[in-house]
Amino acid sequence: MNAPRKLAAGNWKMNGLRADVQEARKLAAEFPSSAVDIVLCPPATLIGAMAASLIGSAVRVGGQDCHVAASGAHTGDISAAMLSDAGAHHVILGHSERRADHDETSVLVAQKARAAHDAGLVAIICVGETEAQRDAGQTLDVVLGQLTDSLPERASATNTVVAYEPVWAIGTGRTPTLEQIAEVHDALRANVPDRAIPLLYGGSVKPANAAQIFAIPNVDGALVGGASLKASDFGAIVAALGAA
Ligand code: PEP
Repeated sequence: MNAPRKLAAGNWKMNGLRADVQEARKLAAEFPSSAVDIVLCPPATLIGAMAASLIGSAVRVGGQDCHVAASGAHTGDISAAMLSDAGAHHVILGHSERRADHDETSVLVAQKARAAHDAGLVAIICVGETEAQRDAGQTLDVVLGQLTDSLPERASATNTVVAYEPVWAIGTGRTPTLEQIAEVHDALRANVPDRAIPLLYGGSVKPANAAQIFAIPNVDGALVGGASLKASDFGAIVAALGAA
């Protein structure tokens, strides 16, 4: 198989004002070219400004969600075509915060991924177990079930990335053991429809733990929340991925 591409993706969540676009410019200055793919996903309000400030750089921009429809009467929503038009190249779908806060199901995530693919976007599809599910020994069943139901038929290494994000590790400073990450990533690799689909780990990735995590087989990069907000932190994670 072709080796999966390495990707460091930053999820700014509901953080960032116009002045913070300078963090993206600093990151781009640090990596004028890059052996690994780099994507920042700011809130929708910043996508256009960030994309404009990154033209010609190695850093790409992504959205954090999209609607299943291309346009229409959906107040407050954003379509994949609009993200693309604003300069986005990727879109995060099925993040656990959207699954929890907006009752998003894997079936809906697959519909959104189809819409993203139709608009030419790369879908970063998130899966992950809660702490209760892990404690009940259900991790692989939950994660592989989400994988099966969230990936659309056309998912391939050119249009899809899968991010394994244990819900209990997001924003908590807690991470699974390296063996626990390896177990899930091995299972994901065995079950993705295209074995070159990049598999990211997400959940409290920091400069201090990035190298260890990137040394795990079948980990092709990271989806990073808090540590992606500052170019100094995220740059260290990108550098660790490049060295892995
Ligand atoms: C995330 O939001 O996808 C995430 C992994 O957050 P953090 O890195 O802050 O745990």
